[in-house]
Amino acid sequence: MLTAFVWVRIGVTILPSGPAPAASVTPVPIPTIIATGTPGVTMGPASPATTASPVPPDASPSPAAGDVVKIIIPVHGVRAQDLRDTYNDARSAERVHNAIDIMAPRGTPVLATADGEIARLFSSERGGNTIYQFSSDKRLVFYYAHLDRFADGMVAGRRVSQGEVIAYVGDTGNAVAGNYHLHFSIWAVTDPNRYWDGVTINPYPILRNAP
Ligand SMILES: [Zn+2]
Repeated sequence: MLTAFVWVRIGVTILPSGPAPAASVTPVPIPTIIATGTPGVTMGPASPATTASPVPPDASPSPAAGDVVKIIIPVHGVRAQDLRDTYNDARSAERVHNAIDIMAPRGTPVLATADGEIARLFSSERGGNTIYQFSSDKRLVFYYAHLDRFADGMVAGRRVSQGEVIAYVGDTGNAVAGNYHLHFSIWAVTDPNRYWDGVTINPYPILRNAP
């Protein structure tokens, strides 16, 4: 089965290694996620978009087989060696971070980590200005928080291309004032009606291999 996500390219494949799923979570096929290089900042499709075709219904349900989503470090100018693994850091009241914080100066462009679609953008008390982005097949959600502001034209339903500027780094929400960073997380959607929930995936082991 070939999908729009299949590239023939050598990369280090890392299977998602999130916390062990709770017993109540039904295992779902999770695409393999690998890192790719930053294609430079773009304000639109970097190349003629390949129309994502629906997954053929006759495909045998072998999880991850042939399913590869390539992601980039979602902050302009940040290199793999600049990243730190803050995924398991404790946060308030028994919460675990389940995300990585990518430090960058205020106003640094935040890039769509993969092709996909804006699911929702809004301001929350904790996350400040936030964006939820689907992968092209909507099986993954990418979450970007503490944004200074959104890029012009960002609305729910908008299709975005990998590397496109979607927002700018800030310290909104519960980030300490002046502690400018992007809070970034990934999860695999388990219930399409609850895209804001799912099996979290640590972006760090993936992105630290970004070229
Ligand atoms: Zn964070």
